[in-house]
Amino acid sequence: MVRSVYSIIVPVYNEEAVILTTYQRLQNVLEATSESYELIFVNDGSRDMTVSLLKGLGDENVKIIDFSRNFGHQVAITAGMDYAEGDAVIVIDADLQDPPELILEMIEKWKEGYEIVYAKRTIRKGESFFKKKTAALFYRLLRLSADVDIPLDTGDFRLIDRKVCDEIKRIPEKNRFVRGLVSWVGFRQTAIEYEREERYAGETKYPLKKMLKLSIDGITSFSYKPLKMASFSGILLSFVGFIYMLFVIYLKVFTNHTVTGWASLIVIQLLFSGLVLFNLGIVGEYIGRIYDEARDRPLYIVKEFYPAIKGSKTPTS
Ligand code: UDP
Ligand code: MG
Repeated sequence: MVRSVYSIIVPVYNEEAVILTTYQRLQNVLEATSESYELIFVNDGSRDMTVSLLKGLGDENVKIIDFSRNFGHQVAITAGMDYAEGDAVIVIDADLQDPPELILEMIEKWKEGYEIVYAKRTIRKGESFFKKKTAALFYRLLRLSADVDIPLDTGDFRLIDRKVCDEIKRIPEKNRFVRGLVSWVGFRQTAIEYEREERYAGETKYPLKKMLKLSIDGITSFSYKPLKMASFSGILLSFVGFIYMLFVIYLKVFTNHTVTGWASLIVIQLLFSGLVLFNLGIVGEYIGRIYDEARDRPLYIVKEFYPAIKGSKTPTS
């Protein structure tokens, strides 16, 4: 089979409400390029009609990687990259929040010689105040802590060259923050800006718990700063404690006052135990991730390829 020029990776998780419209819009855009393409839908354990709708399309450009269960958005993107064959690989969400028409602009930039073209959100429509604020805060926190230059307000919607895709495939990391890994590998990057649309239909598949996991993965994968912060807060508080001790001794020895009060004691006790547990938690986040690496389980399990893949193609990890 001839290799396609473009591989479009679409992670899908219970997207029956949007999937056919998404397919249609993607197909229109890609037909406009008059070059060959494959649409790789990575089904991340959907329990609805998503897969049967896709199979029913009868389009030979459509490929499905069907996971045995829900492994998560970032893992689904990774699987797409493992199997993509195109010269340029494009990752896009299934819910049309990322307009497929932008792919043509990305392709233009790619043809100018950029190896990574990412799409930066200027405005986010139809998302809650809470989601917008926490997302903005997260990107800024990440930027502050990360040791690589991860662009602000940028999701996974992007085009990467074959070379970049091959390098990312060599990264065996388990708790993946793909947009960070793309920055980490380097190469020539550029941005195009866009307004993020409302979700076309259906509910968000990113509840708070998954968002938190993604944020902690992002920060821990690219920085030790939280660990440094833990030791710094320890040093600072010991110092403050020591000064206060000198003050208490001074009062006792040289004056008639003694420091009294159950209230102040309990407040200090709670404050400090809180800080100790918080710092332990930070250390725990890193240890958990080391444990994941040590166990070295496969990143995902594929139940079925559609159309069936011949030969012995195996993912990188
Ligand atoms: N998704 C996935 N697995 C998950 C959660 C989400 O493959 O466990 C897919 C989902 O189908 C969509 C993309 O990841 O194509 C982004 O999810 P969503 O639009 O729900 O996130 P949001 O835009 O609300 O942050
Ligand atoms: Mg979305």
